[in-house]
Amino acid sequence: MELLEKRIQRDGIVKAGNVLKVDGFLNHQMDIVLFNEMGKEFKRLFADRPVNKILTIEASGIGIACVAAQYFHVPVVFAKKAQSVNIDGEVYHTRIESFTHKRVYDVIVSRKYLGPEDHVLIIDDFLANGCAVNGLLDLTERAGAAVEGIGIAIEKGQQAGGKLLRGRGYRVESLAIIESMDEKTGEIRFRR
Ligand code: 5GP
Repeated sequence: MELLEKRIQRDGIVKAGNVLKVDGFLNHQMDIVLFNEMGKEFKRLFADRPVNKILTIEASGIGIACVAAQYFHVPVVFAKKAQSVNIDGEVYHTRIESFTHKRVYDVIVSRKYLGPEDHVLIIDDFLANGCAVNGLLDLTERAGAAVEGIGIAIEKGQQAGGKLLRGRGYRVESLAIIESMDEKTGEIRFRR
């Protein structure tokens, strides 16, 4: 998606450890006009899929998922990072290792909001090694829900997540795929 690539080129900052900072329009301040175009694009890409729910994870996925949901006319469920988990049968639970924070989170979704009747589109801001998406896939599997696709704003193509997920047969659509980024020069190249 050209609009997103241009914005990454303009405002993205390459940090040490293969991290792209996009706080100016996606991860802290959010450009809703851009989000709207992203939502429209997700709808175009998954128009053939019978999506009845969007699943994301707090915090950064929520804004993108909500704007996209207006095009799908479906509710958004976000997986919550729980401080302590009381596995009392009311929630599905999984564990996700955070790429940016280097720690493991317990993540839950209430059984009330995800079940075997659901056809889920997973949406997140970044795809790197795939831990976050794998956790969301685990939750949908526990719920017996069908995965209709995975929509990502920025995929870091130099990391393994996208390849692994596509290899497992999932339809992954990323609006921008980074081929390489250079911490020293700040240069960012996209896969086309
Ligand atoms: P993964 O779980 O695929 O390794 O990483 C994806 C998650 O880590 C996303 O939910 C995102 O929040 C965070 N993340 C991974 N790489 C980056 C990055 O380069 N920049 C930012 N801002 N977040 C990232």
